Amino acid sequence: MKQTLVVAVLALAPVVGAQDYDLVLNNGRVIDPESGLDAVRHVGIRNGRIEAVSERPLQGARTLDVSGHIVAPGFVDLHGHGQSILAGRVQALDGVTTSLELEGGVLPVAAFYEKREREGRPIHYGTAAGWAHARIAAFTGDEPRPDLDWFFSHFGDRGWQETLAEGERLERILKRVSQGLDEGGLGVGVLLGYAPKSGRKEYHAVNALAAARGVPTFTHARYLSVTEPTSSFEGYQEMVAVAAATGARMHVCHLNSISVTDVEAIADMIAKAQAAGVKLTVEAYPYGAGATGIGAAMFRGDGWRERMGGIDYSAFTLAGQPLDRQRFDELQAKAPGTGIVVHFLDVEHREDHRRFLDRSVLFPGGAIASDGGHWEVDGKPVADDAWPLPATAQSHPRSAGTFARFLRVYARERQALSWLEAIAKASLYPARVLEESVPQMRKKGRLQAGMDADIVVFDPATVSDRATFARPAQTSVGFRYVLVSGQVLVDAGVLLTDRLPGQPIRRDSVR
Ligand SMILES: [Zn+2]
Repeated sequence: MKQTLVVAVLALAPVVGAQDYDLVLNNGRVIDPESGLDAVRHVGIRNGRIEAVSERPLQGARTLDVSGHIVAPGFVDLHGHGQSILAGRVQALDGVTTSLELEGGVLPVAAFYEKREREGRPIHYGTAAGWAHARIAAFTGDEPRPDLDWFFSHFGDRGWQETLAEGERLERILKRVSQGLDEGGLGVGVLLGYAPKSGRKEYHAVNALAAARGVPTFTHARYLSVTEPTSSFEGYQEMVAVAAATGARMHVCHLNSISVTDVEAIADMIAKAQAAGVKLTVEAYPYGAGATGIGAAMFRGDGWRERMGGIDYSAFTLAGQPLDRQRFDELQAKAPGTGIVVHFLDVEHREDHRRFLDRSVLFPGGAIASDGGHWEVDGKPVADDAWPLPATAQSHPRSAGTFARFLRVYARERQALSWLEAIAKASLYPARVLEESVPQMRKKGRLQAGMDADIVVFDPATVSDRATFARPAQTSVGFRYVLVSGQVLVDAGVLLTDRLPGQPIRRDSVR
């Protein structure tokens, strides 16, 4: 029988001998969101590439029978703040094969890549140039460190958050951002909501710069409020206007988390702008809670809780425990970089809030992105090489469960979209956000011959998140195999710690 199969394959593809495949995935339900393929196929992999998607079984140095499983392109997370070995391993078990720091970005970009190329990473990684890093440097004189901790360490300084940058100072900010692009940054990360009093002209100039360089921008919108003036609605209006006027390809970060209860009006506005040709793209994560530093500008100023729709202090949790006003004020004053979770929508109990979340998550053509990454025990980062993830580690559950939760809730339980469309939102759509300026991304998010062998094999009947707000340190289940550049990183559901196949995703001009 085996003999017959080999002969059949050779007859089909005489150039490639059967044993030339490093790895074969036979009998899976292969889904390719670009071509629309959704059928039982057999996938041959060689040298990190998909060599064949065949109607007949193949044979390779290692041949796996993946009957009953979906075989899909690995997931691309446009919003991964972790960028560590640990965060990458946790995300690999959630189906992610590429995780990029685009909302924040960092500076200096070259140092970000050097560190990771030296150390290795389990999944593909990359960063945008960070506008906030440039702004903090321009106001404080501190030299940036290429991580987000450096950004959080400046939450106590109000100058960069609340002052206009003009003339020479604005030029210094733009110059640093430009330098980050010269070093291969994937676009410009704009944490605008953290410096809400920065200038409109500055935001316009940053996007004009990106448009001139042909790279996208990734914005956390100005404001977190349902009350005008300084509402989220106005924050998104600004983005639409600046994208239209500069021609920048502008990505809306976490539509779900900063639209509060105005999401329907905001989503309508974005969809209309897209239809009119404004180059906007959207992402969301499937939780009704966000996470950030307690000292963030959006949690300060007169009436900030009313502006968030009347949110209570108990909606803020630290290590799973709700805060009260005294503790909140104390932490904000003394340790403004402290990471908290903020529950802004009650999707468990309120139908209207669930509808708001659905609007973001199911936004047509929108990507799923986690906004997760950091893991701490007792307020200190978990060691990068720690494995398994310590059971007491704290994070927003999105750091571990975003993609499996999205598949479980929206594709399996509620059948709100097809498996094909769900996989497009997790792989193809995010790849498309970058591929115009990052040629590497044209080979991701697709399951076709010639594409990168970043592949997930999961059981649609059991794929599930396990991370909860009370116990976030639980990796997802159901991903039987996860391949990164053709290397098996998750093998029969077990993460292998002896390999770091992740590659840098970087703009071609500097490669
Ligand atoms: Zn954000």
